[in-house]
Amino acid sequence: MSGFSPEQLIDLTYIVAAVLFILSLKWLSSPVTARHGVWAGEIGAALAVVATLFNPELVAYKWVIIALIVGAGIGIPLGMVRMTAVPQRTALSHAFGALSATMIGIAEYYVRAPQVTKFGMTEIGLEVIIGSLTFTGSLIAAGKLQEILPQRPIVYRGQNIVSLSVLGSAIVLALILVLHPEYMVLFPVMVGVALFFGVLLVTPIGGADMPTVISLLNSYAGLSAALLGFVLNSKVLVVAGALDGSSGFILSVIMCKAMNRSFTNVMFGAFGQVQTSAKAAGEEKVVRSANAEEAASILSSASKVVIVPGYGMAVAQAQHKVRELFDALTKRGVDVKFGIHPVAGRMPGHMNVLLAEADIPYDRLLDMDNVNSDLPQTDVALIIGANDVTNPAARTDTGSPIYGMPIIDVDKAHTVMVIKRSMNPGFAGIDNPLYYMDQTLMLFGDAKSFVGDIVREIAGGGGH
Ligand code: NAP
Repeated sequence: MSGFSPEQLIDLTYIVAAVLFILSLKWLSSPVTARHGVWAGEIGAALAVVATLFNPELVAYKWVIIALIVGAGIGIPLGMVRMTAVPQRTALSHAFGALSATMIGIAEYYVRAPQVTKFGMTEIGLEVIIGSLTFTGSLIAAGKLQEILPQRPIVYRGQNIVSLSVLGSAIVLALILVLHPEYMVLFPVMVGVALFFGVLLVTPIGGADMPTVISLLNSYAGLSAALLGFVLNSKVLVVAGALDGSSGFILSVIMCKAMNRSFTNVMFGAFGQVQTSAKAAGEEKVVRSANAEEAASILSSASKVVIVPGYGMAVAQAQHKVRELFDALTKRGVDVKFGIHPVAGRMPGHMNVLLAEADIPYDRLLDMDNVNSDLPQTDVALIIGANDVTNPAARTDTGSPIYGMPIIDVDKAHTVMVIKRSMNPGFAGIDNPLYYMDQTLMLFGDAKSFVGDIVREIAGGGGH
């Protein structure tokens, strides 16, 4: 290592960190390599932090240590939340990331002002505006998901014009500062207006769209970090921010496609505002229900079973019982596969993570397109705590808020069994005609205990 100067060593470490970030994203895209992806990302981030600590410009370690203790004090408990709370936890992480980018941008302005170049002021202005709106927008998103704030979209006439005018004002203030960086009084006003815009941006969006919004805010946080990288002349921050920004954006596009929604519809559509119900006035629909013994008998006499998990499996933490069911049926020669909808649960990859935790073999997990071609030849589709992602109204009811969303075609299986606790709707708040079909049996109960009961019945020979 003697041939390298300390600066070169730091740069080399940054390059290794950047490569690890890229590999991390690549590996995270498949359940088989996802664990490696997490490790690569963590090691990359640790290397970037350590290399920065050796930066000769760093003069006082006292503040770094204080920040480390405060950050760890907040980060460690945040990392221990239940998996179903990960979307709001992620929103909080974006809020903190954006807050730090904003504060560094503010500090840079005051360190340099009034001698800020036009280019430098453009960078700082953009970075602080995006950072500020991401900070408040992410806090509102976390509050909605945690149900501290109302989940429903809060809308009023002329809302988009008001919101766009507020954003426009922040941009005009930034432009004035680019031309006159010495008008220092305008800077905090610009920050305040951008913070206010973040609130206006997210309040009209309903809870159902929050995961998509969070992924979009993720991309804004990345963009603001990349801009901060330009402000601070930090290449690793530019690379990490650009990767974060672009991957967040791609994820939002994937989620929009999986729900057949456009970006504008997510941002301005106020989805979930009107709680529609498929129940026509006075119409009484009949459902057929079954108990664990009957379900066990149907499952064990099937030759092909497709299990479709959803949010309810996550809430009930039923994945290990589902694994036991998988084992029991496979032992009896039943071909069991899992149909994974891209937006099942409350975050992308939610079902994959849970089923991987329960050691379900990856080759048994089929994505929506693959499982849909199997379903017409499937004896039993067993739905465990999923609802919207199986709702045939998305195919047939043009008036439904989820019309056009691709679904798992469980209604094409010969028999459909649905484990859920009641007839309550899912996240989109709409009725599911699947439950009233002739081939459907409702298995009312908590996912974990009901699946456990079925496993016991099969083991006890109740299957035949
Ligand atoms: P869902 O439509 O929200 O339905 C979940 C069902 O689980 C509910 O109907 C509920 O019925 C049942 N349930 C809850 N707790 C249960 C328990 N302990 N045991 C058994 N059942 C339980 O879920 P989904 O089908 O997975 O669909 C996901 C929804 O989230 C979609 O609308 C999707 O667009 C939206 N979304 C997801 C993402 C993402 O990234 N995954 C992003 C944006 C939006 P009961 O109350 O009757 O039990």
